[in-house]
Amino acid sequence: MEQIIDLSYLLAAVLFIFALKAMASPRTARKGNLIGAAGMLIAIVFTLTSRDIVTWPWIIVGLLGGAGIGAFLALTVKMTAMPQMVAMFNGFGGLASALVVLANIFGRQPDEAAYTGQFVATVGISTLIGWVTFTGSVIAFAKLQEVVISGRPIVFPFHKLVNFLLLAIVLGLIVLLGVFPAQRWLVVPTAVLASALGVLFVIPIGGADMPVVISLLNSYSGLAAAATGFVLNNTGLIIAGALVGASGIILTRLMCQAMNRSLTNVLFGAVGQVVAGKATEQRTVKRYTPEDAAMVLENASLVIIVPGYGMAVAQAQHAVKELAEVLTAKGVTVKFGIHPVAGRMPGHMNVLLAEAEVPYEQLADMDEINPEFEHCDAALVIGANDVINPAARYDKTSPIYGMPILNVDHARTVMICKRSLNPGFAGVDNELFYDEKTMMLFGDGKQTVTQLVAVLKQQ
Ligand code: NDP
Repeated sequence: MEQIIDLSYLLAAVLFIFALKAMASPRTARKGNLIGAAGMLIAIVFTLTSRDIVTWPWIIVGLLGGAGIGAFLALTVKMTAMPQMVAMFNGFGGLASALVVLANIFGRQPDEAAYTGQFVATVGISTLIGWVTFTGSVIAFAKLQEVVISGRPIVFPFHKLVNFLLLAIVLGLIVLLGVFPAQRWLVVPTAVLASALGVLFVIPIGGADMPVVISLLNSYSGLAAAATGFVLNNTGLIIAGALVGASGIILTRLMCQAMNRSLTNVLFGAVGQVVAGKATEQRTVKRYTPEDAAMVLENASLVIIVPGYGMAVAQAQHAVKELAEVLTAKGVTVKFGIHPVAGRMPGHMNVLLAEAEVPYEQLADMDEINPEFEHCDAALVIGANDVINPAARYDKTSPIYGMPILNVDHARTVMICKRSLNPGFAGVDNELFYDEKTMMLFGDGKQTVTQLVAVLKQQ
């Protein structure tokens, strides 16, 4: 039976790898998701046929409870709350791993043959990563939700020193666990201090740097699962965890590149602090109506649409697709400029536009679209702010300094559709609103775009 289970894990691992490959392109991502789910199903079914796990009634209770909560969330969570939900998924992954090892170590007898120093130290490692992932993800959730705490960095004196000390103590406890395996109670302070570390590690990160944290926590949730796989001696969990950990690290690297920051700078730089800026200056903006904007758009030969988080809030993606179609029918070339950190989760804009069935060929990433702005008659910004803020290029005091932006200010006309002059997630004012060539289209993204479509259809 053991061999059959191992073979099933091998098959699941192969399916996971094919799934990751398919998920690399939006065209094949759905298929990839299904392949991955099939792999997971195989791994779960064969694990359940295995013996030394809890009894069937408990499994059924867990299955029904988990599936019920999952189905409820899938049906009720709004698209705009998906990033928070992803943050919590990471957190629950970490928590599940941490709880499993906790149950495992306190469920064993210290005189068992398998109860070695190496085993107990692995429990310590899994405890560290699992609890850091859980509490860090809860803070990331709260920051994204912007209810309990704001998205801004929270830093206190000697913050970094406290973090380093905490980490050193936790690592010391893990070494002690390895040397004195009978002292398993040390797992409890390890869990408590790791939980504190998770909170302290995420609270100083804010502004535009949250994408890096979310991808890193995603990677940690995988590493926690892999560590738990070692504790349980479960190859399937080790493989699945390692794949999540590795792909999360790749995503973290991509997000760091998108922010033009090193990982150490994000984690230990306490960047994203908001400095008093020009927001208080009295400056004027040009307010335009959809009718004015429609005239400019209709006479353009190239229009680049730049979506941002506001498009997700307004759920404007279907209206935006219709706008692109109406303009294309009028002979205007329409492209979409996608910034890698636009929205609140990696790939957020791609997901929304794919949902609205915008042809994938129309989407261009930042490097591809940036040279085109200077030839474009109008850049139409729908609810984007930080990712188009020119201050990122030169203002060293800005929390987004150094982040590559979409060069919408190079376009002949810039149209910005948002509800007010409020800043974006990084909390900084955007000088582009006050630029000579900027037309502000105030209002909800969906309503404004729907009005634009209506006007264009009449003309
Ligand atoms: P921003 O958060 O910079 O700006 C979004 C803008 O949308 C706001 O200024 C808001 O202005 C506007 N808006 C909100 N609701 C509506 C609506 N209903 N209709 C029209 N506009 C609306 O978004 P960006 O996409 O430009 O940048 C993303 C930011 O989030 C970056 O700082 C990024 O680092 C960060 N981030 C990204 C993550 C990721 O993985 N992609 C994860 C976590 C953070 P107003 O209120 O005036 O309408």
